Amino acid sequence: MPAAAHEPEVIRDKAAMRAWSRRRRAEGKVVALVPTMGFLHDGHLSLVSAAVAAAAGPVAVVVSIYVNPSQFAPTEDLATYPSDFAGDLRKLAATGAVAAVFCPPDLYVRGGRPDASESGGAISCLEQGDGYGHETWIRVERLEKGLCGSSRPVFFRGVATVVAKLFNIVEPDIAVFGKKDYQQWRVICRMVHDLDFAIEIIGSEIVREADGLAMSSRNVHLSCEEREKALSISRSLVNARTAALNGNSHGQQIKDQIVQTLEEAGGQVDYVEIVEQESLTPVERIDRPAVICVAAWFGKVRLIDNIEIQPPS
Ligand code: AMP
Repeated sequence: MPAAAHEPEVIRDKAAMRAWSRRRRAEGKVVALVPTMGFLHDGHLSLVSAAVAAAAGPVAVVVSIYVNPSQFAPTEDLATYPSDFAGDLRKLAATGAVAAVFCPPDLYVRGGRPDASESGGAISCLEQGDGYGHETWIRVERLEKGLCGSSRPVFFRGVATVVAKLFNIVEPDIAVFGKKDYQQWRVICRMVHDLDFAIEIIGSEIVREADGLAMSSRNVHLSCEEREKALSISRSLVNARTAALNGNSHGQQIKDQIVQTLEEAGGQVDYVEIVEQESLTPVERIDRPAVICVAAWFGKVRLIDNIEIQPPS
């Protein structure tokens, strides 16, 4: 039976993906890529809408679904990362806006030996014996540190490397990332700038549940009770922004208040930081555009969220 017109074409092969993109571009279409790890929710689907809006003309939207092992440390939740490929395809088809789904079986070569001398410290420890055989990595050296990079030292090199591979395979004109993963978005912007990728990067706003919880594939692992407690994240961020806009520019006070709220709710704080929006450099006073970034554990689930603040000039 022929596929319905809006049903995305599923492409698994790298060469087929590249050829598909080149055909679309030859037809005069803008190729827009939305990279995801699947188990899609409305936050992901908002990126598809943002891609269509950014193209402002004939567009071929490609959504990639690939759970990238290279960004997970061995202690992290790769094995339990949720997936529902059939459900994802249904959701993407329902948008009527996705032309292709790229789901490569594997995007990096396993089996080489990690070079222990290369990294020293945390990264080489994490690599030992875990088959991280890929030899070529993209490091966005300053931006990958701090925030999530402190507790996830291999995360951003895994993200940057696999996103670069997706860029080389799909050859998009536009790629859309969620501000939910604020540091990731900035790392990709920087990589694109530094390596001269001819790709426009769009940062798209965070989509939240009605009660404020930032949508995340990992929310499915929260119990009802944990989910209720996790609302303290968005609540504390909104309160912090209100305080900042009402003249409390004292960063440490604002951070302390957020930590207190999260801990009182039963969360275990990984970090609460206030940083400049582009450089992600910590700020002591919120007297310029800043973003408050939070990572906290509720039960076995690590959640991240953030809120941008543009203080009145
Ligand atoms: P993931 O599948 O979690 O790796 O996310 C794929 C893309 O969707 C990334 O660019 C995320 O930042 C983005 N994303 C995830 N959750 C949200 C959300 N709640 N709102 C907007 N974008 C999101």
